[in-house]
This record gives sequence, C-alpha cells and structure tokens, in this order.
Amino acid sequence: MANDSVIGALLARRLEGKVALITGGASGIGECTAKLFAKHGAKVVIADIQDELGHAVCKDIGETSASYVPCDVTDETQVQNAVDITVASHGKLDIIFNNAGILFVLVCFVSHNFSWGYDVLNDALRFNLLPTYLFKNRYAGIADEFKPRIVDNEKKDFERVLAVNVTGVFLCTKHAARVMIPARTGSIISTASISSYVGGAASHAYSCSKHAVLGLTRNAAVELGQFGIRVNCLAPYALATPLAMGFTKMGDEELEQAMCAIANLKGVTLKAEDVAQAALYLASDDSKYVSGQNLFIDGAFSIVNPSFN
Ligand code: NAD
Repeated sequence: MANDSVIGALLARRLEGKVALITGGASGIGECTAKLFAKHGAKVVIADIQDELGHAVCKDIGETSASYVPCDVTDETQVQNAVDITVASHGKLDIIFNNAGILFVLVCFVSHNFSWGYDVLNDALRFNLLPTYLFKNRYAGIADEFKPRIVDNEKKDFERVLAVNVTGVFLCTKHAARVMIPARTGSIISTASISSYVGGAASHAYSCSKHAVLGLTRNAAVELGQFGIRVNCLAPYALATPLAMGFTKMGDEELEQAMCAIANLKGVTLKAEDVAQAALYLASDDSKYVSGQNLFIDGAFSIVNPSFN
C-alpha cells in the first residue's frame, strides 16, 4: 500500500527531468505555473521585468529548482539571452511558456478619463450589467455616453500592447524553436485569452494581440510539427491577477465576485492555478498529440458569447 502511494506520487510528477522557461513568471498565472511545474519535477527559469518579484518566486520554489533571468520580451537580445542561459544552465529547453502580457485599457469602458472609465466599469460589474452592456452596447441611461474608443486610442499605446503580447511571443517562439529544432522535441505554449476569439471584451489592441497569438500558434504548429515540436495556446476567462486588477478600483474578492456574476459556469471561480493546470497538460506528455490548439479555460463563456457586439 505504502509502495503504491510512493509510485503514485512519482507518477504524478509529470514534468520530471524537463526544463521550462516561463515569461511573466514573477506574478499571476506565470508565477502559479512556475510553482506547479517545479512541483512536477521541472527545472524552471523565470523571465520577467520585475526582478525583485521574480527572485522572490524562485526563493519560494527553492533555488535548486528555479532561477530568475531579467528579460524584457520585446527585446530580442534579452530573449535570446534568456533562452541561452536556460540551455547553458540545464543543457536543454523542453518547454517555453510565453505568458508575459499586458492589458492596458478596456476599450469599451476606459477612455483617457480614467476615473470615469473606472466608475462605469465598477458599476457595470457590481450591478451585473456588463453582459447587458457588452451585448447591446447599452448600459442603463448612460449608454449614449459610450463612444467608439478606437477614435481615442493612441498609436503608441496600441503598439506597446502589440510589442509585449505579440512581438514578445514571436521572439520567444523563435528563440525556443532555435534550440528545440536540433533537439527534435519541445512544447511551446502561449497565453492567449478569450479575447483571441470574442470581440469587445477588451481593448482593440489587446484583442488584436490575442488573435495574433492564436495565429502565431497555428502557424508555428504547422511549421514545427516536422521537428516533433508542439505549439499551443491557452484562452482563459478573466481572473483576478495584478493585470486584471490594474483596471478597476475593486479588491481581489470583489472583482472575483463580479467576474463570477457574469461567468457562464456558476459556482466556480477561475484561479491562476486552474490556468497553470492547463499549461501543465500542454507542457507534459499527456498532450503528446495535441498541437495547434487554443485551449479555452472559460467555462464555455466564449461559446455563449461568441461576439459581444
Ligand atoms: P500579471 O500582471 O499578474 O502577470 C504578467 C507578468 O508579465 C508580470 O509578472 C509582468 O511583469 C510580466 N511582463 C509584463 N511585460 C513584460 C515584458 N515586456 N517582458 C517580460 N515580462 C513582462 O497578469 P496575468 O493575468 O498573470 O497575465 C498573464 C497572461 O495571461 C497575460 O498574457 C495576459 O494577457 C493573460 N490573460 C490574463 C487574464 C486575466 O484576466 N488576468 C485573462 C486572460 C489572459
């Protein structure tokens, strides 16, 4: 019996001997995934721009299993360096989780007048009117105040979101592929979003960026399959991480409640750990024939709301 449980525990370590590079691993989904991957036996390298947080996460995990490399994913030299350091330290790269991302503004709600945007968003969430607004482009008596934000959005902001969310994923995929191709194996995973599929859930820039992540994923999956490399992405519904907290004055719990209220799947709250579990599946051999896919972790939200418009 004791032997069975020991064997069970060993079998449960689904990334034993694997090496994973995780961008955006200092916080939120990336942090949870780094912890889960390490728990499953992987050596984890966290790449992020928040050095202090990144080091703290590694300390938490244990410095024999996790290390930190400063890396802005928009800078090719830094990305190349992060990949090369990983290979120099561990001899190979089996998994890259292209997870670093920024949200910037919610186009439907937030204009340059941030407090106005915050208030409207907070009210919409609190009173469970977000879907009503999103579906009908109306929100109580103030519907007419919503202007098409594309008119106000600045080119530089648009480009910044694309630089992190798209160019970052491209560069990480490129440099991971560089070392995975000769090894003839690898799993490349990127964090997309429900905004890779639905319209109107976030800013134009964010939506474009996540659609692009899916495009890149599918293209790379076709191209890299010949080398035994799988490429997939994840599409989570909204969850209370620092990224999401950045556009509301709500606390974690209040935001979570608001997100639950408009979710399709009731009685469950999406947590970063749930996204990490999906990343674990795509990273491990459990998904050895899965490639080119966008795995939705959204409680069927995107099926109920294929387009908000
Ligand atoms: P988060 O803010 O907690 O984590 C994002 C991490 O990315 C941070 O540690 C940040 O420092 C890092 N980062 C930002 N810019 C970077 C750069 N240029 N180079 C390197 N690292 C950088 O947010 P999160 O919610 O955990 O976001 C992770 C991913 O999940 C993002 O791609 C995001 O778009 C996606 N996502 C989030 C949600 C949500 O509701 N939170 C939903 C769907 C998808």
